[in-house]
Amino acid sequence: MTAFWTEPDYDDHELVQLVRDEARGLTAIIAVHSSHLGPGAGGTRVWHYAQPKDAMRDALRLSRGMSYKNAMAGLPMGGGKAVILADKDRTKTDAMLHAFADKVEALGGQYVTAADVGISEGDIVTMSQRTSYVSGLPIAAGSTGGGDPGPSTSLGIYQGIKAAVRHKLGHDSLKDVHIAIQGTGSVGGGVARLAAKDGARLTLADINQDGVKALADELDGEVVAPDAILSTTCDVLSPNALGAILNEDSIPQLSTTIVAGGANNQLARAGQGALLAERDILYAPDYVINAGGIISVATEYLCRRDGVPCKIEDVHARIAQIPARLEEIWAEASKSSLPSDVIADKMAQTLIGR
Ligand code: NAD
Repeated sequence: MTAFWTEPDYDDHELVQLVRDEARGLTAIIAVHSSHLGPGAGGTRVWHYAQPKDAMRDALRLSRGMSYKNAMAGLPMGGGKAVILADKDRTKTDAMLHAFADKVEALGGQYVTAADVGISEGDIVTMSQRTSYVSGLPIAAGSTGGGDPGPSTSLGIYQGIKAAVRHKLGHDSLKDVHIAIQGTGSVGGGVARLAAKDGARLTLADINQDGVKALADELDGEVVAPDAILSTTCDVLSPNALGAILNEDSIPQLSTTIVAGGANNQLARAGQGALLAERDILYAPDYVINAGGIISVATEYLCRRDGVPCKIEDVHARIAQIPARLEEIWAEASKSSLPSDVIADKMAQTLIGR
């Protein structure tokens, strides 16, 4: 592994630590980008990386992303992320998770972990046997908030879509607004159900054909093939599956006026928000609109730390601020003629003192 501080994604990260426990099968990287606003918070990813430098790149890039996301969500948390370098089968053992949790505990709260790709709620419970710097645990007795972050992510996206429709189309409701949803899993399925309640017209796509068909039947929506969803003519395109779906090839094919969805890293490359702006497509920066999940996880963590029950009303109150944040970004974007993704990054950098 080359010196991490010479990596292009190194951005004055405060902590980058290789954590190894050979006996318990652990090799991981913990990165804290900024603790300006609070402890570095962000999930742990379990992934098989072809090269160690790919793992380092993910840790550096994702932890910086968490600094931006947490700051824009108004959370008293900094940005952190961990990656566990797994074998090809992404084997996890309790011993490995305990070894990882011991390393998190040893950081004394500099880094607070949660679930990301490859980590289940059960894994979080296993980690919690060794560290208190973990969140996303099943809803505790006496609490109404916390647990699976999916529904909170969906709620924030739904509210963000409403804000975008108000801003761009001048409608106060989603009635008869046509929303095309890519990915109808935990997040996309939740967005679809909330939008359907408001009378939105839905077109859905997922590689899980049975699941998407069942949801379309439930919500009276239409199904299109996964490769047709991005070019579906609609009012709102809501990507809720994969990253990097907005690129030089796909953006010219979009037939929408708004892109607002929960998938992380929708723009294949920084600066491609300009291609959307050139086409007069309103873009809701992904890490702003999809912050409902981290809002839930962080609120749960702060409540447990302070020994008070986590109330769903408090989670919802923070999520309700997502539309105002988006409005702020879009207003600044039209004033400055810069794309909304660039404006969001600038606002986040100011909030974290960079
Ligand atoms: P999920 O696994 O529950 O759902 C993803 C869905 O996308 C699945 O149904 C899958 O079949 C489908 N899919 C995969 N490839 C596809 C393709 N090519 N075309 C159409 N559908 C495809 O995951 P999720 O938790 O709903 O997360 C969705 C996205 O939102 C991810 O990018 C994730 O990083 C992001 N996100 C999730 C949360 C959360 O709280 N779960 C929070 C923030 C961001």
